[in-house]
Amino acid sequence: MSSAITVRDYQNLIDGQWVAAADGDTFERVSPAHDVVVGRYPSAGVEDLGRAVVAARRAFDEGPWPTMPGVERARILNRVAEAIRANADDLAYVEALESGKPVTQAHDEVVSSADLWEYAATLCRHTYGDTYNTLGASMFGMVLREPVGVVGMITPWNFPLLIISQKLPFALAVGCTAVVKPAEITPGTTLRLAQLAQEAGLPEGVLNVVTGPGRVIGTPLAAHPDVDMISFTGSTDVGRRVIEASKSNLKKVELELGGKNPQLVFADADLDAALDAVVYGVYFNMGECCNSGSRLLVQRSIADEFTARVVERSRTVPVGDPLDPTTKVGAIATDEQLSKIVELVDSGRAEGADLLLGGGRLATERGRFMAPTVFAGVDPAMRIAREEIFGPVLSVLTFDTPEEAARIANATPFGLSAGVWTRDLDTAIGMSRAIRAGTIWVNTFLDGYPELPFGGYGESGIGREFGRFSIDAFTELKSVQMHLGPRTSWWMPRPGVAPR
Ligand code: NAD
Repeated sequence: MSSAITVRDYQNLIDGQWVAAADGDTFERVSPAHDVVVGRYPSAGVEDLGRAVVAARRAFDEGPWPTMPGVERARILNRVAEAIRANADDLAYVEALESGKPVTQAHDEVVSSADLWEYAATLCRHTYGDTYNTLGASMFGMVLREPVGVVGMITPWNFPLLIISQKLPFALAVGCTAVVKPAEITPGTTLRLAQLAQEAGLPEGVLNVVTGPGRVIGTPLAAHPDVDMISFTGSTDVGRRVIEASKSNLKKVELELGGKNPQLVFADADLDAALDAVVYGVYFNMGECCNSGSRLLVQRSIADEFTARVVERSRTVPVGDPLDPTTKVGAIATDEQLSKIVELVDSGRAEGADLLLGGGRLATERGRFMAPTVFAGVDPAMRIAREEIFGPVLSVLTFDTPEEAARIANATPFGLSAGVWTRDLDTAIGMSRAIRAGTIWVNTFLDGYPELPFGGYGESGIGREFGRFSIDAFTELKSVQMHLGPRTSWWMPRPGVAPR
């Protein structure tokens, strides 16, 4: 398969022009599954970033994008959605090669991305403020909702097209302009998306994409005084650095960060359905997923039998070439990520958890693949119960009562999502209330809808994406207070107040 893979050359989009980096520097991406170069991109520096910000600033300040009728913005966003669908095979292929994820899964993500653009298009025509006709006969109040301005977007490598599609169309819908910095190991589909958006009629400067390392252009983007907002998805550590950099002009910050998400399986659940979702939830995207169901909390009365079934099912998960349509688990994105996974697995062994399956890198001719791994006997205090592993590693913990289940579920600094498996309505609603996380799935896992807000509690982030709620992030509210008729003068004596 790898012999047919060819390298693609990309350029950055700045002010409507496709350009190389100012100093001509480039960097390459090697497919983590095939060990061949698949993409070459401009290595942008602060000069390139500066030009991108100037372009986005001008496109915002001078228009026409922010003041264009919503219906016209909606037409363009819908055209982008159509173009994404029309190019789905190619986008999925690029995504699979750069990230290592299975191409069939990448295809699903491309289709979901198109859906996000279509949904956001509806918001172009449904973003509005409020009026107050209750302030007295001489006053009228209006609340205007205005685009926040130039938005810097920094995205990770695990769902490159999907995550930029969770931000960009929503920001564009309300009239913002953008400077996007994709992860340096997976920039291909973001640059292709920019090309499709340009062809769909997005005016020059509204969308700019610069590629390069986070420290070189990510931090300066977060610190830039002409950027009004940063929307960041990535690790909690880098999220902290983004907040630090954003302090320069106290810009608005929205963060989607890591997770250590539990799936709670109660004894009364449909255990076949739960089994399928537990295995899917932890191995989906090689576990390189913020929503990974990396902790299984199982009720003690069924723990041994259910865990044994999880191990048996895990043995059957097809790991291999992302371009093979039967593959469910592809390659780990980088050597660095694989080392991090192995280090955490070693910590699990050292802290006394029982390794039931896997536990290391798979021996393959090329690429980097991790064996599906299951630990039982995990204590909530262990690192593998608290830290995001970002690999195909499941930590099994047990509980007796719903109260104990909720306590363990909440015993990490994160709060992104959780799965609850039960047939009992009280348990389902009780757990949905008790778990401190932005998304609770009941008798399902990893579904997502553009209508429903997504984001995290605690160290999983700040703010929400998706749905009409995403409009809050990308808009400012302005109160306009209007006086009707003669206004009471400041100099007029007020009744009951004696002049001094
Ligand atoms: P990362 O934090 O290493 O990188 C994310 C982005 O930040 C990349 O574009 C990177 O170049 C940039 N960056 C790196 N250092 C920077 C710096 N000092 N200043 C500014 N930008 C910098 O994350 P990753 O490894 O690409 O992605 C994995 C992480 O993302 C995981 O923790 C995962 O949970 C999280 N994630 C969260 C969500 C969510 O919606 N909550 C979704 C996907 C991934």
